[in-house]
This record gives sequence, C-alpha cells and structure tokens, in this order.
Amino acid sequence: MKTDKYIKNYINGELVDPIPNEYLDNYNPATGEVYSYIPNSDERDVELAVAAAKKAFPEWSRQPIAFRWGLLNRIADLIYQNLDLLAAAESEDNGKPVNLARTVDIPRAVENFRFFASAIKHFSSESHHMTSGAINYTLRRPLGAVACISPWNLPLYLFTWKIAPALAIGNTVVAKPSEVTPMTAYLLSKICIEAGLPPGVLNIVHGLGRKVGEAMVLSKEIKAISFTGGTETGKKIASLAAPLFKKMSLELGGKNPTLIFADCDFDRMIQTVLRSSFSNQGQICLCGSRILVQESLYERFKLAFLEKASLLRIGDPQSPDTQVGAVVSKEHQEKILSYIELAKEEGGRILLGGGIPEVNKRCSNGYFVEPTIIEGLDDHCRSNQEEIFGPVVSIAPFTDEEDALRKANASEYGLASSIWTENLSRAHKLAESIETGIVWINCWMLRDLRTPFGGMKNSGMGREGGWEVLRFFTEPKNVCIKYR
Ligand code: NAD
Repeated sequence: MKTDKYIKNYINGELVDPIPNEYLDNYNPATGEVYSYIPNSDERDVELAVAAAKKAFPEWSRQPIAFRWGLLNRIADLIYQNLDLLAAAESEDNGKPVNLARTVDIPRAVENFRFFASAIKHFSSESHHMTSGAINYTLRRPLGAVACISPWNLPLYLFTWKIAPALAIGNTVVAKPSEVTPMTAYLLSKICIEAGLPPGVLNIVHGLGRKVGEAMVLSKEIKAISFTGGTETGKKIASLAAPLFKKMSLELGGKNPTLIFADCDFDRMIQTVLRSSFSNQGQICLCGSRILVQESLYERFKLAFLEKASLLRIGDPQSPDTQVGAVVSKEHQEKILSYIELAKEEGGRILLGGGIPEVNKRCSNGYFVEPTIIEGLDDHCRSNQEEIFGPVVSIAPFTDEEDALRKANASEYGLASSIWTENLSRAHKLAESIETGIVWINCWMLRDLRTPFGGMKNSGMGREGGWEVLRFFTEPKNVCIKYR
C-alpha cells in the first residue's frame, strides 16, 4: 500500500479518474508545497457513485450480520496493519504531529470499525405488549444509499465515524472527505478493495463541497445525510435537505468553555488544559477555547499555563518530538491571524504568541501559528464568540459558580465543556445546567463510543452515540398485531 500523486475516486469498487478529468492542488501545510492532486469531481461522478450504491444495497442489506461483521473487522485489521503509513499520510496532508495521528486519529478509526461491527451483533429493536391483546414491534430496516460528509481536522477518524455505522447496519454509502485532507480517505479506498468489500457498498467521491457535497445532498436516491463540519455549512445543508425530508445528523462547530475552580487538582488540570487548548493546533472541535478560572486561582494558573505553553515544541509534524505542527492551510493560517488582530482591537492583551513562529529547514514556508493566549476579552466580543479553530485561547477570571455558568453559557455554540473541581456536588450541578452536549469533569476527550456525541444550540442536531447512531441509519416502522 502506498500514497499516490494523483488521488482517484472510489466508485463501484474501482479507483477511477473524475469525469471532468480535472484535479485540484493538494498542499502539504508544513512545507507549503503541492504534493499531490485531488479529483475535482462534479455531479456526474456523484451520479455514478449513487447509482453504484443503489445497485449494491439490496444484496448488502440482506447479508447475514456475520458477513458484515467480518468485513468491517477486516477493514479495521488493515487500517491497523497500515498504521505507520496512514499516520504519516495524515500528518503530511493535515500538518498535525505524526505522533498525534499515530496515537489518536488512526487507532480511533480502527475502533470505529470494530465498535460498530460488534454493535450490530447486539443490536435490538423494541417490542411493546398491550393489555388489549396486541403486540407492537419496531421493525428497523436500513435506509438505502446514504451520504457521509466530513471535515479536515480529524480526517480518517471522523470519516470512519460516519461510514462504519452506516455500513454496519446495512446501508450503502456515498462519502466525501474534505478536499483539504483527502489522502487517508484515498488509502481507505485501497484498504476496502484489499478487504474484499463488494463493489458499490462504499463509494468515495473527492472534490469541492459546493459541487460534490451539494450534489450528494440533493440526490433523490440519498436517504440520509450524516455531516460533520462548520455551522454555516450545516445550515446550508439543512436548508437544501429539509424540503426533501431527508434524515440529517449535523455535527457542527464549537466555542467550548473550560471551567477551572480553585479546589481542582492543579497538576492534573494544567497538563490536560494544555492539551485541550493546543492539541492538533487547537483544530479539534472539542478543544476548549474559552478558559474561565476562579479569581483566587487566576494568577497561579496564568503563570503556570504561560510557562507550559511557551515550552511546547513547535516544528516539523513528521518529527516524533513535535507537539505543535502546522495549521491546515494558508487560508486557515490567515483566518487565525486575523482573529488575533481582531482580539487586539477588541481590547485583548496577547500574553503569549500571536504570530508566526520560525520553523526551520523544509518547513520554513509552512503554515504555522504560535500557541496564543489572550487575556482581557469581553464575553460577548466577536473573538470570544466566533469559532477561531486554531491554537488560540482566551483566559478570564470568574467569581463564583453562578458567574462561571453565566460566562460559560454566553455562547451560541454548545458542543463541549470541561469542569475542573474536586467538589463533585458542584460538578454534577453544573453539568446539569451547562448548555453543552458533552461535559467532561476533571478530564478531556475521553470518549466511550456508547455515549451520545454532539452539541446543543448551534453546535448541531441528531446527537447520538452507540446504538443510537445505528438507529439513525434505519427506517423505523411500527408493526402492530392484534392476537385476541
Ligand atoms: P466545512 O463545513 O467547511 O466542510 C466540511 C465538509 O463539508 C467538507 O467535506 C466540505 O467539502 C463539505 N461542504 C462544504 N460546503 C458544502 C455544501 N454546500 N454542501 C455539502 N457539503 C459541503 O468544515 P471544515 O472547515 O472542513 O471543518 C471545520 C469545522 O468542522 C469546524 O467548524 C469544526 O468545529 C467542525 N467540526 C465539528 C465536529 C463535531 O463533531 N461537532 C468535529 C470536527 C469538526
């Protein structure tokens, strides 16, 4: 298995060129160089992929569960066997430290296939016995061909988080990875071919969102859309798909609060908050970008946080020692830097970073941004309200629980929060009132795949986990039998 210069679409079991025969440049963000080419597909490629998925559906959906279980596990095995290659490819495509891809992204992609392969073996639907002598049971059939659209920040991990459950329950899939990071999805096509996945069961069409993504959303044959990406794109997809009455799961942006109380376990907190702020250059939807600290701990926290963040090793993502790599693209680097300027105009004081670091040798033209810590921003200013999605955090003090909660909830987003306190009554109370779909207490990024995942408010809809994700990909029907 190897990466190729020209990425191909995966349609009906084959690797094919896009019908327009056009390609987009694919940049390595750590060097600023074009290193491969992405199919600039259009609606005709999507039509072919949808037709292949539709044709493959009857047989795939009727296969014994053990057959699908076996194939999904085989794909997981092959991802695992190619861990080094996939981690290096993801790092080259995305700019993330190779170690992060090796220890988080790729192992979690393996886990997505294993989890849903095993979940279908235990899947059950409901039955209700009425005293009037009738039984209602819920028949859950797979939907048909479904669309999975994913973003660039955790490329293979989020792509497989959608594809694995859709396939496991018996749907066929037309999927589109982000055009910014297509390489690991391309390698997944090769893995599916090697695993013996029947033609048409999974189809991967590369290209731009407004061409390929919209054609998938609008296709009459696509029964459901599972989307992860930005809130504006989510709105657009919802506006196109709602009049067609399609099922939708939208996992969108965030502006996550981290609440730190004076009674927390300081050492544990500071290590984890460093990660929750700057992992993947802050480009994880779950990163905490608004750090709120109880007044009495504020100065101690600030000193320690600044010191630790200033020691983070920024550098070539392919080096195993690197902790902070490149951000995903030049446009994204410019967006992050413009938000730092905006924060200054809004009264923010830059305590650390704020610019482009010097990274030597082959990365001297790469797209890097220093870990940046800002103080003094108002809760409601744009830089504290809008998603920056980079290594940029604001820190601010709060007085008491009520003040902390008010500040935490002062956002249109509601994806995730972290609460640091040894007072568990307080933690549970806050967990109940905080307006986020995920609440971490004294931890971050821990995830049991059986739990609901996703955000409240503008962070999305269709918050599901485990079996619920499998249920999303089914058409439930109530069957009622009167026997007396
Ligand atoms: P994006 O919305 O720009 O793109 C996501 C995907 O949608 C890409 O594949 C893109 O090509 C496609 N797309 C774009 N326009 C489309 C359209 N009109 N119709 C159909 N598809 C279209 O997001 P991004 O910049 O790739 O990713 C970053 C965003 O994703 C951030 O906002 C981040 O918070 C969010 N995100 C959310 C989660 C979550 O679980 N809630 C996880 C990761 C990332």
